[in-house]
Amino acid sequence: MTASTFRFDNTYARELPDFYAPWKPTSVPVPSLLFFNQALALELGLDPEVLDGPEGAAIFAGNQVPEGVEPLAQAYAGHQFGGFSPQLGDGRALLLGEVVDQLGHRRDLMLKGSGRTPFSRGGDGKAAVGPMLREVLIGEAMHALGIPTTRALAVAGTGEPVYRDRPLPGAVLTRVAASHLRIGTFEYFAARGDTERVRQLADYAIARHDPDLVETTDRYLALLRRVAQRQAALIAQWMNVGFIHGVMNTDNMTISGETIDYGPCAFMEAYNPHAVFSSIDQSGRYAYSNQPLIARWNIARLAETLLPLIAEDESKGAVAKAVGQATEVIDAFPEWYAAALLEGQRAKLGLQGDDERDRVLAADWLTLLHEHRVDFTLGWRRLADAAGGDASPLRSLFLQPQALDAWLARWRSRSESNGGHALGRSERAERMRSVSPAVITRNHRVEEALSAASEKEDFAPFRRLMTALERPYDETADQTEYTEPAGEEVTACYRTY
Ligand code: AMP
Ligand code: MG
Ligand code: MG
Repeated sequence: MTASTFRFDNTYARELPDFYAPWKPTSVPVPSLLFFNQALALELGLDPEVLDGPEGAAIFAGNQVPEGVEPLAQAYAGHQFGGFSPQLGDGRALLLGEVVDQLGHRRDLMLKGSGRTPFSRGGDGKAAVGPMLREVLIGEAMHALGIPTTRALAVAGTGEPVYRDRPLPGAVLTRVAASHLRIGTFEYFAARGDTERVRQLADYAIARHDPDLVETTDRYLALLRRVAQRQAALIAQWMNVGFIHGVMNTDNMTISGETIDYGPCAFMEAYNPHAVFSSIDQSGRYAYSNQPLIARWNIARLAETLLPLIAEDESKGAVAKAVGQATEVIDAFPEWYAAALLEGQRAKLGLQGDDERDRVLAADWLTLLHEHRVDFTLGWRRLADAAGGDASPLRSLFLQPQALDAWLARWRSRSESNGGHALGRSERAERMRSVSPAVITRNHRVEEALSAASEKEDFAPFRRLMTALERPYDETADQTEYTEPAGEEVTACYRTY
């Protein structure tokens, strides 16, 4: 490995020695490169010439460890479906290290599916091609939509099967993240009553994600507030594209505000606030409309870990004051979320200015989509056409188009005043099309791409889908096959995992 390809600077390994186990990836029999993200490699200052080939395959499969890498399995805990697990950790992942990208941002490089670790419990430490390519597709789609997310740098085939309900081809994903600090990382030492370790972690998180807070006195409370605000903004973005994460456990929620861990996630088709796609989510805890409530619940779990740091001392009075301050943040979460959601909805409605009618206008629009089982993505997209002067494509999505008329009249009247901002028809339509995508990762297209890749080693559908979702706001002829819904029957029984 040429030393110049990666320049690692591993602060986590150096500064948080008690938060991981040093570990090595397991070698695989036949490494091959199934996916390599050129654009991301360049962004990271890596050399695609070197990595997009056999050498990259060896590195991204875990067979070759580049100079400067100190692979480690991170320790974390987490609330899973509401119940606390004191010891989770990287059971099938290894942090390789951190690189500073072309913009000066520190990014983690992590292998996922690289073999058993001290945190594997009963698991095999491995991953299959299908789910890892799924993480690539959805992560890149989210990125193209402007939603903070971890991203995939590479997927390497291993040449060996992994055993799920049947043997599947194995793979290792290389994931890039602003960090892998999770709410569950804080819970790990908090649950052990080790306040000094929690403080060490909080100081590390502040230095890494909120360096402007380093010198401030109330920095732990401020950290809590920042994480809450980032998550409120993130969840609002999810909601405005119809994204359902599926497993919002506290170990799957980042401090950075990036979406992480694409497992049983999906974009919904027909608008339904109760939509759930994950077969493991029997009670619908992580249903679409629950996501903001769960995010707040998760923030409350983070707050609990920070209380001893927020309090000035251990006296009853100081602790009570800290509880009050943390509660204020938790109670502000719904407002931050609602403000971020409304800002996004306003843009999607093509409206400017702050009008108190907007919240109800948006809510009534969603009720209409729900009642008429309108495809969420197409509904918004065709509303842009209506803004441009042609309401018929929108009307054709509705079971009874007349039901739309009263709402359209209200929306048009609000559009005309537009808070005093003059906006022409086509300009409004263009603005709306720039925030409401035509292409999302439709579930049937994802499955089609993954099964071709996984079962037939045919990567053409995967590549075509990637190309389409890299420009989600374009609706040119070549995008058409990716804009159409699968239809209600397919979607009704769609399950991930
Ligand atoms: P997840 O549901 O993917 O967020 O993972 C929850 C926990 O299970 C984490 O500690 C993972 O590292 C661990 N885990 C998931 N899959 C495996 C596996 N195949 N082998 C070992 N650990 C795993
Ligand atoms: Mg996870
Ligand atoms: Mg996972």
